[in-house]
Amino acid sequence: MEIKSIKILFLEDSQDDYELNIISLKKSGLNLQGVRVETKEEFIEHLDKEAWDIILADYNLPNFNALEAYALLKERYPDIPMIIVTGVLTEDAAIACIEQGITNYVLKGNLARLGSAVKQALNKRHLEEARKNYEKELEKTYEELKQRADDIKELLRQKDEFIGQLGHDLKTPLSVLMTILPMVKEDSDKPEVIDDCDMAIRNVNYIKNLVIETLKIAELSSPYVEFDIKNTTLVEIADNVIKDNHLVFTKENIKIENIIDEKIIVEADQLRLSELFNNLISNAVKYSGNNGGKITIDAHNNKDTVTISITDTGIGLTKEKIEHIFDEFYKADDSRHNLESSGLGLSICKRIVEKHGGKIWAEGEVDKGSTFYFTLPSKTHIEE
Ligand code: ADP
Repeated sequence: MEIKSIKILFLEDSQDDYELNIISLKKSGLNLQGVRVETKEEFIEHLDKEAWDIILADYNLPNFNALEAYALLKERYPDIPMIIVTGVLTEDAAIACIEQGITNYVLKGNLARLGSAVKQALNKRHLEEARKNYEKELEKTYEELKQRADDIKELLRQKDEFIGQLGHDLKTPLSVLMTILPMVKEDSDKPEVIDDCDMAIRNVNYIKNLVIETLKIAELSSPYVEFDIKNTTLVEIADNVIKDNHLVFTKENIKIENIIDEKIIVEADQLRLSELFNNLISNAVKYSGNNGGKITIDAHNNKDTVTISITDTGIGLTKEKIEHIFDEFYKADDSRHNLESSGLGLSICKRIVEKHGGKIWAEGEVDKGSTFYFTLPSKTHIEE
């Protein structure tokens, strides 16, 4: 590779040697501009005058030497390489030079090497500069990404604050409506007014549930929310939720089976865990279709984690929909929903699971059913 017009500062007390160096470098294809200096003062003065590509220095000069020159260079321009061009150099001196960081040395008796030594040093410098630029770019990108992540965190915090505030503001007028509407219904003997009141009550109830769930999301998003973590027998929590909902299973003609091993103990907040089971089991019922079906609750212990599964034989889910079902306000298919759906149940589940340090996910096949999985920290003693 031919390097175009490189700028070389020579520290050399002999004009003849300087000229020999130039001839040798030109022979090796280098196009250069050279300046020769002899003393420490000249060296310091010229260092600042040009953007030198490389310094070539004789080892010993009358009142100065290459090691001193290198110390000055390193202090001012650490990226500029230096090669020593000298008549003789003992092995110890050569080692000392390289240890200090001097790039290379060439003996005057072997000047044919000078060109390739200079080219090598310049290549190394270019590579080093490229590496440094790359590192700077990388650092800049990292800082930008960090800043963006902070901005997103702040936006999410503001969103949660907004949701929480909205929920609180809606609570009072809703309570007023929930008191007045039944009274209006009671006082009326006109069937159309009674029908309108029923419809209004259903809608107000829907908004009330939406507000309750929205406030729950805001609460669970807060870094200050506290969980009362205890060793908990998993099967009992699931059984209690099943008992509380037994009328629904009968009404919907759904068979429910809890086959969780009674030995499985998890570390969990029992109220939140009940809420989690309740949401997932209610969904399994809600999306079981109209012909009954079966719900199975199971759990597997794997070292430090228990994976709980709730499987239904309902309408199922596509892969595309599964990607979004844990998002707030997402409803996989609006036409399936009535005023009982808010699209918030699974985002609440996700937050509860994540606050326990677990994960939640789903699998499903359209018209065959879905399985929702979540993990919790295990306290079960595993027998070898
Ligand atoms: P929703 O109040 O609408 O039930 P969720 O957040 O609980 O809100 O659920 C989000 C969406 O995921 C639901 O609207 C539904 O389309 C889908 N989904 C949830 N559970 C099931 C399930 N067991 N089977 C099929 N689809 C489900």
